[in-house]
Amino acid sequence: MDTVPTVDPAMDAQPPALVVHAHPEPDSFASSQTRAAVEELRRSGHSVRVLDLYADGWNPVLDRGEFPPFEGPFKPQAEQMRAVREGTLSAEVRAHLDAVLSAELLVLSFPLWWFSMPAILKGWIDRVFVMGAAFGGEFGLFDRAALRGRRAMVLITTGGPEEAFAAGGAFGALDQFLFHVHRGMLEFVGYEPLPPVVTYAPARMSEAEREASLSAVRDAFAGIGVSAARL
Ligand SMILES: Cc1cc2nc3c(=O)[nH]c(=O)nc-3n(C[C@H](O)[C@H](O)[C@H](O)COP(=O)(O)OP(=O)(O)OC[C@H]3O[C@@H](n4cnc5c(N)ncnc54)[C@H](O)[C@@H]3O)c2cc1C
Repeated sequence: MDTVPTVDPAMDAQPPALVVHAHPEPDSFASSQTRAAVEELRRSGHSVRVLDLYADGWNPVLDRGEFPPFEGPFKPQAEQMRAVREGTLSAEVRAHLDAVLSAELLVLSFPLWWFSMPAILKGWIDRVFVMGAAFGGEFGLFDRAALRGRRAMVLITTGGPEEAFAAGGAFGALDQFLFHVHRGMLEFVGYEPLPPVVTYAPARMSEAEREASLSAVRDAFAGIGVSAARL
């Protein structure tokens, strides 16, 4: 199986859609989902950039080492603000932040781990949604944050079956535990979250069911309507 393509070379300068992929296995269903989504977006005429966090060896740990040396206690958001102000963000964070700021649509693609996202993707948010550049500083929060007017969505797989995620189901309603992603990460920096695209329990499916699920993913992305005008 092909690996997830990381960059659309023709569109590297100003990629209008950014897909951030977080699964350690290229042959996983989640990776197939990401490829299906990317293919569909491109087929629809959109330029797409993919950041494959595991393949790229992304370091998810926000710590003082990514900032220029300083004395005293480490206050992460204060250092982020200072790095934005003084132009000293690390090259890695700056590049990913620029990819975010250049994109009109952000897709976070991941398997559901502990009712949330894999740590590598959480750490990507920690480091790349920089205070002073994505929110705060000259920007505010939510509808005054830097990514206001843009859209974002999550593309996920689960281990549990769909009925476990219904209201009153064993795991609880999916939108309840996606709240921290939708409200706490995406809306917080200004995005309008689109409805999540979810494949429930692909490991329990037949081959035919997996094919049908990938078709459903393609249909969902064909329907996003990221029009050329908006991009
Ligand atoms: C740390 C951890 C925490 C977890 N927490 C939760 C949780 O809180 N809630 C929950 O519900 N689940 C949880 N899980 C389970 C996890 O969400 C699922 O295992 C995962 O989402 C399944 O997606 P996958 O891509 O990894 O599936 P995979 O097992 O990679 O894929 C399923 C099958 O699809 C096949 N496949 C891949 N591509 C294709 C293709 N193109 N066509 C046909 N078949 C294909 C694969 O070969 C495989 O046989 C957790 C797992 C871990 C590791």
